[in-house]
Amino acid sequence: MYRRILVAYDGSDHAKKAVAHALALAKAFGSSVCVITVAVDPSQASLDKAQKIASEAAEALKSQGVALEEVAVRSGTPATEILNYAEEKGVDLIVMGSRGLSALQRLVLGSVSQAVASRARVPVLIVR
Ligand code: ATP
Ligand code: MG
Ligand code: MG
Repeated sequence: MYRRILVAYDGSDHAKKAVAHALALAKAFGSSVCVITVAVDPSQASLDKAQKIASEAAEALKSQGVALEEVAVRSGTPATEILNYAEEKGVDLIVMGSRGLSALQRLVLGSVSQAVASRARVPVLIVR
């Protein structure tokens, strides 16, 4: 059913869970997986940090034999970059965490997962 899955990964515990779900779905459906990490700004230091974070997810997927299609590092507004990349790759499912790296615990859903779930044209799996 899902040919190509996008997992949005910021290195948070929730995003780690999202990777585990993407992995299980990819195995079950024979999907290929793309990973995106959005850097906070376009500086080389931020991009390098984002690349390291993205590589964690990529390694976890590869070590389980999942077909890793692409690992993308972008800078900009996370939700916008995730949505644009999803369109660009023609993914049919986006998997992400309900919360991310923010220390604020008052909201049920983080702003990135809320914006992606509201605007995406494909199903979004929000992992708690
Ligand atoms: P907020 O950022 O709104 O203060 P938060 O950090 O708790 O709150 P989100 O940022 O919405 O919550 O994180 C939810 C999920 O969105 C993460 O688990 C991850 O899957 C994805 N995500 C968030 N930021 C990024 C990012 N920079 N790059 C890739 N994925 C991200
Ligand atoms: Mg966040
Ligand atoms: Mg934030």
